[in-house]
Amino acid sequence: MTLYTLKDILTPAREEKYAVGSFNIISIQMIRAIIEAAEEEYSPVIIAFADIHSKIMPLEIIFPLMKKMAKQAKVPVAAILDHGMSFESTMKALKYGASAVMYDGSSLSYEQNVAKTQEVVKVAHSSGVSVEGEIGHVAMEEDNPDRQGKKREDLIYTNPEEAEKFIDETGVDALAISIGTAHGICLEKPKLDFNRLAKINEVSEVPLVLHGGSGVSDDDFKECIQNGVSKINFFSRISNSIANAIKDKLNNTEREVYYQDIPPVILETCKEKIKSRIRVFGSNNRVSF
Ligand SMILES: [Zn+2]
Repeated sequence: MTLYTLKDILTPAREEKYAVGSFNIISIQMIRAIIEAAEEEYSPVIIAFADIHSKIMPLEIIFPLMKKMAKQAKVPVAAILDHGMSFESTMKALKYGASAVMYDGSSLSYEQNVAKTQEVVKVAHSSGVSVEGEIGHVAMEEDNPDRQGKKREDLIYTNPEEAEKFIDETGVDALAISIGTAHGICLEKPKLDFNRLAKINEVSEVPLVLHGGSGVSDDDFKECIQNGVSKINFFSRISNSIANAIKDKLNNTEREVYYQDIPPVILETCKEKIKSRIRVFGSNNRVSF
């Protein structure tokens, strides 16, 4: 198969009202788990690598690998740079095989966010790569476990008129919006603003993206999907489950443990979690092979 762009994957999702999961990877086992889960569920899928994780694995190593594995999959797979924090890193991901890049200018002023996103769109589109932008700001707690359970004080809700203007001015292919979710696992249950989501969906020409999926209930996901969310980013809950499964394995193995005991635990735990998300997002049985 070829590598799919975000646009290829999200256009049918928006039309048929389901969402495609975008799952972050930080190891080869996670890429395998996501692709195998998607194949077993006959679902398209998005594998994501976050710019902040480039300290674990450089972009120039992981993207060629993501591209190669995505192309070998039996289902449509897109490979996206998640939360690209600079023009340079988005260009690097593009150069090394990403079929989509997210440029996150959500902590900039509106004008700066538009200007920077426009630059990324110009280059990405010229090489057939899709772009996701963000307007409003989904609070960041990712990679900062000490902040867990604290108030999501840096959340900025997306303004529908600003979203419409942003799409028009930048030409993005998908838009990440902020309607009450936060990154990471929060002790506080998120209260989603569905009214705001419906208003954004009404004026948006592109599929909408929900970040910070880990704290959201299955019913709330379904409601979001009915209101135009076609891509759901989901990571922290999976990461936490994998870490706990490794802890269990280490604690409950009678014999001496070895490093090679760990990859199968990552693969199996990750795969089960992904399959359950795919079913909730309704992207199962959308492809045949
Ligand atoms: Zn995110």
